[in-house]
Amino acid sequence: MAIQVTRTYVGSIQNHRQVCDGLNSLGDSASKIWNVARWTAGRIWDATGEIPDEGPLKSYMKNQACWKDLNAQSSQKVIEELSDAFQSWFDLRQKDDTANPPGYRKHGDTRPRSAITFKEDGFKHDPGNNRIRLSKGSNLKGYWSDFLLCEYQTRPDINLTEVDSVQNVRAVWNGNEWELHFVCKVELKTTDTADDGVAGIDLGITNLATVAFPDEYVLYPGNSLKQDKHYFKRAEYDTEGENGPSEKSMWARQKLTKRETHFFHTLSDTIITECVERGVGALAVSWPENVRESDWGKTGNKKLHTWAFDRLYQYLEYRGEEHGVEVLKENEWETSKTCSRCGDDTKSNRVERGLYVCSSCELVANADCNGAENMRQKITPNPHGEDRSNGCVAQPSVHLFDRESGMFRTREQVVS
Ligand SMILES: [Zn+2]
Repeated sequence: MAIQVTRTYVGSIQNHRQVCDGLNSLGDSASKIWNVARWTAGRIWDATGEIPDEGPLKSYMKNQACWKDLNAQSSQKVIEELSDAFQSWFDLRQKDDTANPPGYRKHGDTRPRSAITFKEDGFKHDPGNNRIRLSKGSNLKGYWSDFLLCEYQTRPDINLTEVDSVQNVRAVWNGNEWELHFVCKVELKTTDTADDGVAGIDLGITNLATVAFPDEYVLYPGNSLKQDKHYFKRAEYDTEGENGPSEKSMWARQKLTKRETHFFHTLSDTIITECVERGVGALAVSWPENVRESDWGKTGNKKLHTWAFDRLYQYLEYRGEEHGVEVLKENEWETSKTCSRCGDDTKSNRVERGLYVCSSCELVANADCNGAENMRQKITPNPHGEDRSNGCVAQPSVHLFDRESGMFRTREQVVS
């Protein structure tokens, strides 16, 4: 069985002395594009009360001189980063009105230097010779050449000639020198021996995690996390004085962070342990990359959820590695709309009060379980659940976080 996944590999630059100046000037250009766009957004915001969308901002910026300092796709990426930063701030501000909007980036020697992203027509990769050509914008071409030729070295166990494709490359200042981040599509071959079971997770807002194990569906609500947040946020606001956060509110903030960390650790431990016990060797985690901005609007805080998902994913990956469970990040694309039994994804399929209803095969299932089952099927060799009965999609188990024991337990165990 082979699975395609996305991986990022770091390459250290061997001819750093030759390309350092060139990368510095590209980094400065990225900062400049950011700053001009930030200033423009600020002016429009002052005049209209609204932050301009990514599209109009890009069109406007295309006519600015600095746009052509970078490859067009690299310049566009800077605007996308700025838009994301505005969106995060917007979301954050609803909870914390002291949050600051995205700032300006500094030039010159007082860096953090801006990272530069090179998409498909911004680089030419020669993995056989460990070389990559990074293109400059037309403004910066012509001194010596049109591109920067970097010689790089990856970790010895990484071989970039073996990856399926390099999606994009980022030049990143690590505080000390520039390094290259290769975002690659990689084919993973999993063994068909011992732990060949596969499971899927749907990450969500009500049910933080819904897991489709080979033999059962389990919901892990974020209940305790929500209660904690509610309680501690109140404690924080109640004690907020004129001179900013009081000692008590600082305490509440730290306490909440600790509880959240504990919750995420326990949840990931529990899920990985269940995987090991049920013979699961691969776990596909939904990655809500392609959720549209408008969908986030309905569900609220994108930044906080993205942050929580990211954290949970990291813990799962870490624990998984220790216990021989391969954790795979998969795009959630279309999984919530598709029927996990028959694969139908027509619009007439609907979700009502948390139930997924298929118009073709008349499956009625818990919507989160249907999503998790679709994740599972992304990596199972038997599409549409041919390796299982679907009866259990409708009757998941619920494992709640129990404060007393600090563990996840079944509802019956928590109640008694
Ligand atoms: Zn169906």
